Amino acid sequence: MNDTLLKIWNKRPLIISGPCSAETEAQVLQTAKELASTSKVDVLRAGIWKPRTKPGLFEGIGEVGLEWLSTAKKETGLPTTVEVATAQHVEQALKHGVDILWIGARTTVNPFSVQEVADALKGVNIPILVKNPINPDVELWCGAIERLQKVGLQNIGMIHRGFSSYGNTEYRNAPMWHLPIEMKRRFSEMLLICDPSHICGNRHNLQEVAQKSIDLDFGGLIIESHIDPDNAWSDAKQQITPAVLSVMLTNLLWRIKNENYNTTELSLLRERIDQVDDELLSLLNRRMKIADEVGNYKKDNNLTILQTARWNEILERAIAKGNNLTLSKEFLVKYFDAVHMESINHQNKVMNEKGSVLNK
Ligand code: PEP
Ligand code: MN
Repeated sequence: MNDTLLKIWNKRPLIISGPCSAETEAQVLQTAKELASTSKVDVLRAGIWKPRTKPGLFEGIGEVGLEWLSTAKKETGLPTTVEVATAQHVEQALKHGVDILWIGARTTVNPFSVQEVADALKGVNIPILVKNPINPDVELWCGAIERLQKVGLQNIGMIHRGFSSYGNTEYRNAPMWHLPIEMKRRFSEMLLICDPSHICGNRHNLQEVAQKSIDLDFGGLIIESHIDPDNAWSDAKQQITPAVLSVMLTNLLWRIKNENYNTTELSLLRERIDQVDDELLSLLNRRMKIADEVGNYKKDNNLTILQTARWNEILERAIAKGNNLTLSKEFLVKYFDAVHMESINHQNKVMNEKGSVLNK
């Protein structure tokens, strides 16, 4: 990897943009030129091989698209990135001088494919980004990264593109922010960027999701852009023009991360938070002691631990109360679910003290 590329790879925030798919030479060149003229984009992306959920959709233009990208790079100076899923993709991308590779969400789920890509990259010094798997599995995401590390790749980054779920939700792929946060904890030095396009699936929430990722200290963004988004051959609903992208990037508030930024004012607020957390822990402890008493009562009277009507009552009461507080329904349901499960575990311990005969 040359110094110029290394510098771009290490730039924060790192901004990658370009069409979901390379469609025609004119589309790739025009998009690249418009992106370059914003001076806000560091790397040009384009899908060359598209893993589509159903056959019959546009499955990518193939190798000829790599020539268009190479021309776009010559004309704009923008380094390029494409998705690779097989050893053959890697070979062709390298042959055409692609600068950065990425592994797509449908590939990260498959250890055989990730290993194939990793083996094809043995001894090659190229940066590579790994999208999260389509299912919310942190270990699978880590496993893909480890396979690449094992063949000696030094410049690895992560892309958070959300997780698919059953049925219609607000997002095309639910962000489940706690998962990228966990990845950041495990790979604290590694670049993590956000892909609001595939999280949102439409244009409307792109800025909001991008801002949230910045506030969570992500290192950059990959956003799909197209000269004529409505007529894009793939992912038409979520693409934006380079001009709209430029406005959006200007509107984002780039926060500073400074863990040493510790004024008296902030320390005092944090002390108050710690104090409340201590109180909450002690209250939860008290609650579980009562659950133990309930367990003893149920044991004496041979009652089941789970009493669905009572559980519904607890939840409904909490949600009704929450309406007047600053707590969201989503949080309350998660919180009471966790408390209820812990309470069941406590009662289970009290009621089944002797354990199973199988363990004797
Ligand atoms: C893409 O970036 O166009 C793409 C196919 O994304 P994902 O792997 O996140 O579905
Ligand atoms: Mn896409």
